Amino acid sequence: MKTYRIATIPGDGIGKEVVPAGRQVLEALANKNKTFAFEFEDFDWGADYYRKNGVMMPEDGLDALRDKDAILFGSAGDPDVPDHITLWGLRLKICQGLDQYANVRPTRILPGIDAPLKRCTPEDLNWVIVRENSEGEYSGVGGRVHQGHPIEAATDVSILTRAGVERIMRFAFKLAQSRPRKLLTVITKSNAQRHAMVMWDEIALEISKEFPDVKWDKELVDASTARMINRPATLDTIVATNLHADILSDLAAALAGSLGIAPTANIDPERRYPSMFEPIHGSAFDIMGKGLANPVGTFWSVVMLLEHLGEVEAAKRVMQAIEAVTGDPSLHTGDLGGKATTAQVTAAVCALLDKVEAPAAKATT
Ligand code: NAD
Ligand code: MN
Repeated sequence: MKTYRIATIPGDGIGKEVVPAGRQVLEALANKNKTFAFEFEDFDWGADYYRKNGVMMPEDGLDALRDKDAILFGSAGDPDVPDHITLWGLRLKICQGLDQYANVRPTRILPGIDAPLKRCTPEDLNWVIVRENSEGEYSGVGGRVHQGHPIEAATDVSILTRAGVERIMRFAFKLAQSRPRKLLTVITKSNAQRHAMVMWDEIALEISKEFPDVKWDKELVDASTARMINRPATLDTIVATNLHADILSDLAAALAGSLGIAPTANIDPERRYPSMFEPIHGSAFDIMGKGLANPVGTFWSVVMLLEHLGEVEAAKRVMQAIEAVTGDPSLHTGDLGGKATTAQVTAAVCALLDKVEAPAAKATT
């Protein structure tokens, strides 16, 4: 029997509520399915660790992750610690340290979810956003001088490298090719950003020649927000830089009904290191500690984790259980207008995993 080693890092805020829920779902799955098991190791990194130790995670923390098969992550962000410290000290340290350069964010309107676009059916909105996850606007290059003086200056330098753009374009074209519509939209801003984004466009064109069966087009990032709302069905796979995709994917999540549902995977496509799976939402200070967080974003992230491990049938079973639960309004959490708690939604998904059979093949990402 195969045993997968999974690191769980709840982090801060509602991460501490949804990651244990995700682990419960994986345990329920393993109990039922005797062909694989999980060995969990939990890491207490985050803002509480920072208050005790002055760092979000230990210096040699990455060494403890390297031999894992996957990482399930919650959120980094605390009301009393500046966001750039929590984010760079934990999540970005892991993403960059393990070179998880492709961030994959599927969006669909799940059954029973009331999405805000009234003219949009679930068939119209089935996207996957590929976010460049290792450089660009979040490369971390820059500086700040003369702090507090009138001559104070600060820079955040966006860096794109040929190697970085080639690998994310190749990943995105390949993903588009694997989906039924074989359709890719490359998001750009090469009208205003006339150096790196022009190279981005040129490399997209070069890589497209390796994928003659993929239809592709280019869209300016600002125009793409309007297109997502007015013509959602014209989009399928989308690739964008770190910052652009960060923003577009929150919009996508809201258009599909709630930030609490949306999942993401930080992937090392070469599989040199473990990949990391997480809901796209943050610590949700307004509801943390109350047991009200929607765990569905974490469960869908668990689906992506299982797909990455090659457990495709198990992934389908979890997705089917999620869809059954979203289809029942009495199991909607507050963000969806309901009254259900994290524990109730989790128990319902676990109970369904005991029952459901694998559905006919259906794309989940
Ligand atoms: P947020 O995602 O934490 O919350 C935005 C709104 O959505 C809140 O009203 C919240 O209650 C609601 N919400 C989010 N997830 C929910 C869920 N699962 N169930 C129900 N409601 C949910 O975003 P924010 O308020 O901008 O950020 C709060 C903190 O989280 C900040 O410190 C930020 O830096 C951090 N953050 C971390 C990550 C990450 O680690 N990946 C991502 C985003 C934000
Ligand atoms: Mn974000």
